[in-house]
Amino acid sequence: MSSHKTAFFNHIAQTSDAPIGLEIEYARGPFFYTTDGKRYTDFISGIAVSSLGHSHPEVVQAVQDQAAKHMHVMVYGEFIQKPQSELAQLLASQLPDNLQRIYFVNSGTEANEGALKLAKKATGRRKLVAFRDSYHGDTHGALSVTGRDVYRDPYLPLLPDVTFLSFNAYDELNLIDTQTACVIMEPIQGEGGIIPADADWLKAVRKRCSDVGALLIFDEIQSGMGRTGELFAFMHYNVVPDILCMAKALGGGMPIGAFASSDHIFEAFKYNPPLNHVTTFGGHPVSAAAAHASLSVILRDNLPERAKLIENEVREVLKSDHIAEIRGKGAMLGMQLKSYEQTERVVNVCMRKGVLLGWTLHSNTLIRLAPPLTIPMDVLKDTLHTIIQAVEENPPD
Ligand code: PLP
Repeated sequence: MSSHKTAFFNHIAQTSDAPIGLEIEYARGPFFYTTDGKRYTDFISGIAVSSLGHSHPEVVQAVQDQAAKHMHVMVYGEFIQKPQSELAQLLASQLPDNLQRIYFVNSGTEANEGALKLAKKATGRRKLVAFRDSYHGDTHGALSVTGRDVYRDPYLPLLPDVTFLSFNAYDELNLIDTQTACVIMEPIQGEGGIIPADADWLKAVRKRCSDVGALLIFDEIQSGMGRTGELFAFMHYNVVPDILCMAKALGGGMPIGAFASSDHIFEAFKYNPPLNHVTTFGGHPVSAAAAHASLSVILRDNLPERAKLIENEVREVLKSDHIAEIRGKGAMLGMQLKSYEQTERVVNVCMRKGVLLGWTLHSNTLIRLAPPLTIPMDVLKDTLHTIIQAVEENPPD
């Protein structure tokens, strides 16, 4: 065992008893390379992060330039820092009128924490509504609105006054009421098993929130930044949230998150008392510079369109009686198989052949298909052939 591997197992806090444990040498484009000289195609993009592929040269350049100019200088929100301002301006240019003000944080879960606090303070209400099988992160607030008991139970009590509704079900929408501060949801549930909201139902959620004065929060931490074929998934639906959360691919491989809302709603963070929601590192200048470079590439190279081409190719090649369904939009797709054992075999066979696939958190029969949006077509075709071969050779039991 290499000394790094020994240190990993002896000193890095573990999150399961079965980490993948590949030792990374370097990563470029759709591939990463391990210290034993193997190359893997990253078909999950570091869980929906590396949409531009690994170490995109324009992002690397932006990181190097900004690190040489300055790194951390002051807690968030006090000094004017060019990378943050440029990023906010570019993001705002792509967002509707009511999402023109942006608060930068460090991660997805922090974006959701901030959004929940903002909704409570802006409305003066306390009730939170969320959905079964959602995933919003692992801090206490985000976990409180995550809809899966097995992850929540060890940490109870969590936030009080959270009501869970079934996704895509109309009959419970009346539980969104005049006590409700906000409804938090993923327009396409990611960890729940890549489940898109029905278009009419999402409109009904929007209408119910507007009718009772509850704020609608879209967690687009996984579905954002072009992955679904639009810059944000809400753009497919023509349903605009009151607060939009993003992270993961936002930083082009660097850690950064954000939540966007209106001037009016964000007033709540300025007063009573001032500084009631602050962060030291939120919108770190190096991450912000990386995010600006990344978003510039996404827009210039029209990567949402590439996500659509990827979807077409995946749906074309991954056809088999052993597959129950391909679900999702753009390059946020899931391959629903028919048993856990079959799923495990397919993932393991692909891994041996140099293709990294994975599960979503709440499902053990769904394989996540989320390649970098920049994956060259020949690499995509080869990878899909490896996957379909593995499926054909591994029928359900
Ligand atoms: N929200 C969604 C929809 C996610 O998929 C994730 C992470 O997978 C999070 C929130 C949490 O983000 P982070 O891990 O950056 O805290």
